[in-house]
Amino acid sequence: MEKQTYTVGERVEKLCAVCEEERGHVVVSVTKRGQISRVSCPKCGTRSTFKSGKSTSGPRASAQPGAPYDWTRTYRTGQTMLHPTYGMGEVTAVIEPQKIDVLFSDRMRRLIHARTALAPAVASA
Ligand SMILES: [Zn+2]
Repeated sequence: MEKQTYTVGERVEKLCAVCEEERGHVVVSVTKRGQISRVSCPKCGTRSTFKSGKSTSGPRASAQPGAPYDWTRTYRTGQTMLHPTYGMGEVTAVIEPQKIDVLFSDRMRRLIHARTALAPAVASA
């Protein structure tokens, strides 16, 4: 990615938390490297910190990678888990809202997930 530098007085698009609108904010301070550190909303005057384009926050994972398998958690395709019996596995597909296919080192297994401890599987029919 190209490194972009800014100077005080420039305008950048940012979502103003007060106006709840994305608008051009005025850069009020920059770091030594030319990265924006603070911006000001021209409408409400709110000063806020500016986070550079680096998006470290992808979709929020409901489980830590490689965390122990927990059937009360909700897994997504691509997440990994450590099963007490089968070892490390990766979710390859969500079959049903509460069933997942997990590929372990030896073979694929179907596991349950997204079950709540207070509401065990009960036939609702
Ligand atoms: Zn504002």
